[in-house]
Amino acid sequence: MLEDLKMPTRMEVEEALLKSLFNHGGVIKEFGADEEIVEEIASDFNLNEQQRSAFLETIYKKENRLKRSSLLHRLLFRAADNLAKEKLVSRPTQTIQMTHKREWMLTENGYDKALKILGIPKVQKETLPIKSYEVEKIVKRLNEQSRPVNYDPFDHNKKTSKVSKETRLRNRGFRQAIIEAYDCKCAVCEMKIKSPDALQWEVEAAHIVPHSLNGKDDIWNGVALCHLHHWAFDVGWFTLKDDFKILASKQIENVPNNFGKIGNYDFIRQLSKETRVIALPKRKEIYPHQTAIQWHRENVFYYQL
Ligand SMILES: [Zn+2]
Repeated sequence: MLEDLKMPTRMEVEEALLKSLFNHGGVIKEFGADEEIVEEIASDFNLNEQQRSAFLETIYKKENRLKRSSLLHRLLFRAADNLAKEKLVSRPTQTIQMTHKREWMLTENGYDKALKILGIPKVQKETLPIKSYEVEKIVKRLNEQSRPVNYDPFDHNKKTSKVSKETRLRNRGFRQAIIEAYDCKCAVCEMKIKSPDALQWEVEAAHIVPHSLNGKDDIWNGVALCHLHHWAFDVGWFTLKDDFKILASKQIENVPNNFGKIGNYDFIRQLSKETRVIALPKRKEIYPHQTAIQWHRENVFYYQL
């Protein structure tokens, strides 16, 4: 009987929680609110029915009553509490202030630890869509800035010599903010696709004024594009008008027929036919800024015949 009730140690539960957080994009709901997570962890440990349904009875002396609580919930909560003390996760009480949801969220250190447990190289942090408390704060700031009339898309203070931890966080914040704003779709072709492990979106966060020219990591200087349209935008095959309609290069008329084709689909000529407005975010406040797209039209777009 006691053998059957042997539960995983706190360390083991802590690791399982970090893995679970990673597998759920960096956030999980409070345990009381999400039985799915509790079930998932119970299955990870191969817990039997007795272990899953074990209760702890606590006597509340003050109120002179008995409180029954699930042993598994208690273990999960204690492990999460400890992870929060070690600053590897943020508590639901902290997270709610930012996201309005009561969730546990990985911190940057927790993210690193999860990668280590899972044997995933740390460089993948730049592209994996896992939320972290620190990056989420940047995303929130980017989304909440009020839209300036005269926006300067250049970062004049940027030190180009070395990539600091802060720059990397900012890059990830930019990427996450743009991809979320465009609902993980390319603004031109609206393609939405993930890697087979369901972790990575294909869509990219493109800078309008390129990063290499000190373009800012602001939501107004970005647009979500698939790999192909990102490339075509960066080399000047198309740009955007002030009303966010696509403007394609006249040079398209000069390329041989077999250029830019994907089977029967004519990727490059299709751009000239597009006269509609690109797929934009829900809120106008975070649309690309006209000063940034004007710069792109004048400096990147290849118009001539
Ligand atoms: Zn596309």
